Amino acid sequence: MSIQQDNTFQAIISHAKEYGFVFPSSEIYDGLSAVYDYGPYGSELKKNIRDYWWKSMTQFHENIVGIDAAIFMHPTTWKASGHVDNFSDPMIDNKDSKKRYRVDHLLEARADTLREAGKGAEADALLAEMDRLLAAEDFAALKQLMLDQQIVCSVSGTSNWTDIRQFNLMFSTQLGSVAEDADTIYLRPETAQGIFVNFLNVQKTARMKIPFGIAQTGKAFRNEIVARQFIFRMREFEQMEMQFFVRPGTQMEWYNYWKENRLNWHLSLGIPREKYRYHDHVKLAHYADAALDIEYEFPFGFKEVEGIHSRTDFDLRSHQEYSRKKQQYFDSDVDPATGKPYGNYIPYVVETSIGLDRMFLLVLSHAYAEETLTKEDGSTDSRVVMRIPARIAPNKLAILPLVKKDGLPEIARELMNACKPHFKCFYEEKDAIGKRYRRQDAIGTPFCVTIDHQTKEDNMVTIRYRDTMVQERIPMDQVLQIVNQAIA
Ligand code: ATP
Repeated sequence: MSIQQDNTFQAIISHAKEYGFVFPSSEIYDGLSAVYDYGPYGSELKKNIRDYWWKSMTQFHENIVGIDAAIFMHPTTWKASGHVDNFSDPMIDNKDSKKRYRVDHLLEARADTLREAGKGAEADALLAEMDRLLAAEDFAALKQLMLDQQIVCSVSGTSNWTDIRQFNLMFSTQLGSVAEDADTIYLRPETAQGIFVNFLNVQKTARMKIPFGIAQTGKAFRNEIVARQFIFRMREFEQMEMQFFVRPGTQMEWYNYWKENRLNWHLSLGIPREKYRYHDHVKLAHYADAALDIEYEFPFGFKEVEGIHSRTDFDLRSHQEYSRKKQQYFDSDVDPATGKPYGNYIPYVVETSIGLDRMFLLVLSHAYAEETLTKEDGSTDSRVVMRIPARIAPNKLAILPLVKKDGLPEIARELMNACKPHFKCFYEEKDAIGKRYRRQDAIGTPFCVTIDHQTKEDNMVTIRYRDTMVQERIPMDQVLQIVNQAIA
C-alpha cells in the first residue's frame, strides 16, 4: 500500500468512527481484535445494503425464496460439508517474533511490492507459482518460494520461519451445561450449509421447480489468524448468500448468468465499472468445478468482495451420504434427447456469496471524498463528503428550518411528518446552516431542505444536493416526490 493509499484508508477508518458508522467492539476494554460494532449510521447503511440485496434476489427473481436458518447446526453438517477436514489456511510462524502469518498473504504482499517497483511481470509470475503450489499443497516448495523471495517478518525483520502448517478456521463451543455430556458444536463459518440442509423443506413447502434459488443473510464466524484491514477481514461477520439449484449439465450456463447478474447489481449502485474486475480461481475448493471472485479496488488494492462458485452436487450428495436421507429432486420436464422426463437427480448448485461487511467497506471506500472548495471571494474551504448511493444512504433527507422561531420549525415539522413514513429523515434546527450541511455531507445525506421566512409567503423551500452542492428553490410539495424518485 502506498503512503497515499494508506492515508486514505486511515482517514476512512477514523471517519467511520467519528461519525457513528463503525466502532471497535467493546472499545472501553480496548476492543477485541477483528470484531466491530456498527453505530447509528452504520447500522442503517448496513441494513439498507442487506435490504437492497434481499430485494434484488427474492423480489426481482420470482424463482428465489429466502430462509433464516440458525447459526448452530448439527455437528455432522460440518463433517459432510468438508469444513472439519478442509477449512484451513496454510500458516507460517516467525520463530523470532512469534508472529503468525497466512502464507498467501505474505506472497501477495511481496507481489504488490514488485508491482510498485515496476516489475509487473515478475509479480504475475510469483502469484501464478503461488497458486500452483497451493493447488498442489506443496508446502515445502511454498516455503522455499518465500525464502527465494527473501520475505521477512515485518516485526523481527528475519526469515527464521517454521514449516508451513494448516490451521482450521472454525470456532467451536459446547452444547449443554455439563462438560461430560457436552457435545462440540461449531459456529457456522458460512451460511450456505443452512440452505443445503433445508433444500427439500424449502423445495416442497414453497413448491419450487428447478431452476430455483434459496437466499439467506446472516452471521458467520471464522477464526481468521491474520485479521487486519478493518472490517475487510473479521472474525464475526455477515454473509449474503444464494444457492441456485439447477439441472446437472446446465451449471456453466447459470454460472455465467450469475457472474454477470451480480456485477450488474454492484454497478446498479452507480459504482464505476473500472473499479471492478473478475478473478478466476486457479486453486478450486474441494466442492467446486468453476469459481471466480468479483474484486473491487479498495484503497489497499483490488480484493475479493464476492464469490461466484459452481459447487456441483457436492454438498447435497454429501449430506445425503451422512444423513442417509435422499436429497433428490424429481424433474418432470421432458428431456428432448430421450423424450422422457429428466426424472430423479441431485441438483447442481451455483452459489453467489458476498460479505455484507466487506460490501459496506466497499461503499465507504467509494463514497469517501475530501474536497477543497473555492468560495466566491477566492478563499478556500474544505469538506468531507460521503457520496453514498442515495438508495442505501442512512438518511435520505435532512429537514432544516433556518431558525428555530417565527413559525419555521412548525412548517419543517409538517414536511417531516409527510416524508417520514416513506424514508428516513433527519430533523435539525441547531447551528448555522452551513455547519448543518457539512454534517449531513459527512454522513452521506443526499438531500437537505431548508425552510426560511420566504417559505411562509410562497411555500417554496431550498433543496441542496449533496454531490454538487447546487441549491434550488422548489415548491415544498415536490420534496417527497424528488426524494422518492432518487431512491426508487
Ligand atoms: P478470503 O479469500 O478473503 O478469505 P474467502 O474466499 O474465504 O475469502 P468465501 O468463503 O468465498 O471467502 O466467502 C464469501 C464472501 O464472504 C467473501 O467474498 C467475503 O466478502 C466474505 N468474507 C469471507 N471471510 C470474511 C471475513 N473474515 N470477514 C469479512 N468478510 C468475509
